[in-house]
Amino acid sequence: MSENQQLRIGIMGGTFDPIHFGHLITAEEVRVQFELDQVIFVPCGVPPHKKKYDLTDARHRHLMVELAVADNPHFTTSRMEIDRDGPAYTIDTMRTFRERFGDACQLYFITGADAILEMLTWRDNESLIELCRFVAATRPGYELSELDRRLGPRHRARIDPVSVPGIEISSTDIRRRVRQGKPIQYLTPSATVSYIRKHALYQQPE
Ligand code: ATP
Ligand code: MG
Repeated sequence: MSENQQLRIGIMGGTFDPIHFGHLITAEEVRVQFELDQVIFVPCGVPPHKKKYDLTDARHRHLMVELAVADNPHFTTSRMEIDRDGPAYTIDTMRTFRERFGDACQLYFITGADAILEMLTWRDNESLIELCRFVAATRPGYELSELDRRLGPRHRARIDPVSVPGIEISSTDIRRRVRQGKPIQYLTPSATVSYIRKHALYQQPE
């Protein structure tokens, strides 16, 4: 636990279809910079905002996350969203973590520069910004300066921008590469690569 004994937890939500080094590098960088005790990866179940393609079965996405974080003692995963019936809203997830860890815990929701703006336009974002702080990590191709333009001072005061090594990896690109027979080794942990191969994921057009 950090010096002042206050528990500090990061929550990293995403579709993780599949998880890749962009997610892991971001989570680790934020963990160290913010002195977090733990980062919990929370793969989403049925996204409230319909995706452009059919998400891979939650069981596969969750297992790939489990395999990818296994060697980091500060990383864990949660099935909270995938076990929920119907759409899982971030506000409900964060309320549950808030109840679990108590009011004294510092809760951070970790997102990339692309996701934060999208997220703060979600329903109930007024209550959401009261529940936790947000960490907005840089991501190649997305401008964090947009935040200043698009969000009011109350929102901005709850967001900590953070610079992470620029990793131009996306799950979309990994899925496309698999379909095209291109290599994905070194874009995601080798356990993920083997899992994708073993279960023949991402073979069908989206
Ligand atoms: P997709 O291409 O399917 O949208 P993705 O690579 O964006 O996948 P997500 O599961 O959508 O991955 O992202 C989960 C979270 O991780 C989001 O907050 C996203 O902004 C962040 N993230 C993903 N990839 C990176 C990256 N390369 N650098 C920084 N943040 C990232
Ligand atoms: Mg994404």
